[in-house]
Amino acid sequence: MKAVLITLCLVITIAAGAQQVTTAKTYICPPCGCNDDHRTFDAPGTCPSCNMTLLNKDNLDEGLDYYNIYPDDVCDRVSANPQVLLLDVRSLGEWDGSTSDLGRFKNAKHIPIADIESRANELAGKENDEIIVYCSISARSARVSKYLSENGFNNVKNMMGGLTLWNRLTIDSLQCKNELLIKPN
Ligand SMILES: [Zn+2]
Ligand SMILES: [Zn+2]
Repeated sequence: MKAVLITLCLVITIAAGAQQVTTAKTYICPPCGCNDDHRTFDAPGTCPSCNMTLLNKDNLDEGLDYYNIYPDDVCDRVSANPQVLLLDVRSLGEWDGSTSDLGRFKNAKHIPIADIESRANELAGKENDEIIVYCSISARSARVSKYLSENGFNNVKNMMGGLTLWNRLTIDSLQCKNELLIKPN
């Protein structure tokens, strides 16, 4: 009888624990440089500072048509698929280095966010190709990722944290850090 009771207690404890794990979700603003980047929220919705869709911390892609990946995933993706399209959506000055020293990715394509609707035709034929969108802090890239994924592109990935995070990471955590990035002179 004692063993049965202990077993029963264990089952109840485990069940309660499991229920807690499934109900308590934490949501975060994508790392976009807004005031709420480090705040957590207990329900889905939009960030009060930047109005971007909040992400489920444990499943960054929940409810989205595109994927959120981190810089180290970009290293993995590029080595697994050298044909991956790296799409830079920053301004011309950030791209050519005249207004930014973050650098840019080798072989990247540049379409500023302001031109994405009028120039999306330049991506024709790439509807099923892997496209990794990046900017400086991942506010613009998240918006472009959302736009492309809602307009016929089926494998769009947003690089979380942008080139700001890229530049902050050490070579130990980001193996391709210097191989993939071109810095302005
Ligand atoms: Zn943010
Ligand atoms: Zn925000």
